Amino acid sequence: MSSSEDEGGEEYLFKIVIIGDSAVGKSNLLSRFARNEFNPHSKATIGVEFQTQIMDIDGKEVKAQIWDTAGQERFRAVTSAYYRGAVGALVVYDITRQSTFESVTRWLDELKTHSDSSMARMLVGNKCDLESIREVSVEEGKNLAESEGLFFIETSALDSTNVKTAFEIVIREIYNNVS
Ligand code: GDP
Ligand code: MG
Repeated sequence: MSSSEDEGGEEYLFKIVIIGDSAVGKSNLLSRFARNEFNPHSKATIGVEFQTQIMDIDGKEVKAQIWDTAGQERFRAVTSAYYRGAVGALVVYDITRQSTFESVTRWLDELKTHSDSSMARMLVGNKCDLESIREVSVEEGKNLAESEGLFFIETSALDSTNVKTAFEIVIREIYNNVS
């Protein structure tokens, strides 16, 4: 994170990480947010480490540098470099797979060892378009978020539900923490 005064006034750069089990939809949440794209056959992310999105908050230019895991989570090897300098996180599970919800605690532990407690954190239940095969109730998500002090939202990268909102809440919270 940085803030600098140049000719143009203040500038903000916030690093945000997306974590969660494999195939919960992390890469698609990012591509939906950054490029308005969805990939039904996405394999492990190739090449792209992060995407930068620019937002205007209170007339200030805020750059969100959002990092995607490139698939390392399959090997439980998300490195400390991935977390370094991050001031926000989206912790994602898939509402149709209970096991990905159970992993959230482990992801939160990992997050705690790599960041400080002031980090803006959002619990994200993705794939809410798949209501008919839901395994994790909204209530369960809410309760976990409340007990861990996280924001909570359900999203669909497929039909775009709440994707923009999820990122914007985190970015705004970070901004509020530093301004
Ligand atoms: P990642 O491993 O967490 O990065 O997950 P991906 O973004 O690669 O998505 C894994 C699979 O889930 C892909 O087949 C996606 O098309 C699918 N997927 C991702 N988000 C959604 C969603 O919101 N709804 C539905 N129905 N499928 C999704
Ligand atoms: Mg991915």
